[in-house]
Amino acid sequence: MSFKRVAAVTGANKGIGLAIVRNLALEYPSSAFNNGPLLIYLTARDQGRGEEAIKTLQNDFQLKKVKALAADGGLATIKYHGLDISEPKSITDFAAFLKKEHPDGIDMVVNNAGIAMTGFDVNVVTQTLQCNYYGTLLATTSLLPLIRRGGRLVNVSSMSGHLSSKYSKELQAAFNSSQVVSDVTSLIEQFTHAVELGQEKEKGWPSAAYAVSKSGVTGMTRAIALEERRSGGGRLVNSCCPGYVDTDMTKHRGSKTVDEGAKTPVMLALGEINGVVGEFWQNEKVVEW
Ligand code: NDP
Repeated sequence: MSFKRVAAVTGANKGIGLAIVRNLALEYPSSAFNNGPLLIYLTARDQGRGEEAIKTLQNDFQLKKVKALAADGGLATIKYHGLDISEPKSITDFAAFLKKEHPDGIDMVVNNAGIAMTGFDVNVVTQTLQCNYYGTLLATTSLLPLIRRGGRLVNVSSMSGHLSSKYSKELQAAFNSSQVVSDVTSLIEQFTHAVELGQEKEKGWPSAAYAVSKSGVTGMTRAIALEERRSGGGRLVNSCCPGYVDTDMTKHRGSKTVDEGAKTPVMLALGEINGVVGEFWQNEKVVEW
């Protein structure tokens, strides 16, 4: 089959990522983005969990087949590909694979993979930043150039990275004024250094690895989107919060279903967003960072 559109979703074996794959497949046929058969790469760091997720989706699709087929374009093809965003080589290997398989480019990337560890120490901070910040950053810079003009890149961030009262006024201003990725990465490095010295509170940071990692994701997404606009690349890059969602990450305390959590990322990947770039979204609207 020759695919006209290609999408990739990270951390897609469960939770919101799996729902993003399902809803991309279901909504694509009736979206303005429909240009013919769609291939979605459901990526996961564990092959067994990734392949099991594909089976789950196939069963789910049987139930929803009528709706998907009636919407025309048939069912999307979903393939597993390994991707561990905490491993830089895994990201660059996946980018090289996509480039080879799809030399004319891909269309949509949703960087959804993320972790929320309990506790707060240097180890937690290092692992959280490696996955949520540096992993998402490398996935963004590696996959964005593969996206065709008019295509979309969505980074799943979080409201817990909001710049409200958690940060000192100086740090809020520094995040807010960051224009290029190196400005944001430098703030993330300052945080790591402060934690190593046991001085994050004195220096105006919260003792919260996840929140800082997500402030970094929102900030670097905006910086990359601004750069994309400056260079006239024509791809729409945005970040979003899915809301408080019932998944393993929230120990199933979240109030939204995974399909509700997938709504904003899916809209940013294939819905009508009037060319908006570099914004932070929640509940399908632009919100203040
Ligand atoms: P889950 O813990 O349910 O799922 C996280 C997914 O990310 C899993 O598939 C997991 O794979 C994968 N993952 C973790 N680390 C890596 C890695 N290094 N490489 C590749 N994949 C990885 O979380 P949610 O579905 O709730 O979260 C999805 C995203 O939404 C995250 O970015 C999260 O921060 C964000 N978010 C979630 C909220 C919520 O209320 N749930 C609120 C705000 C933001 P595995 O099964 O192998 O661990």
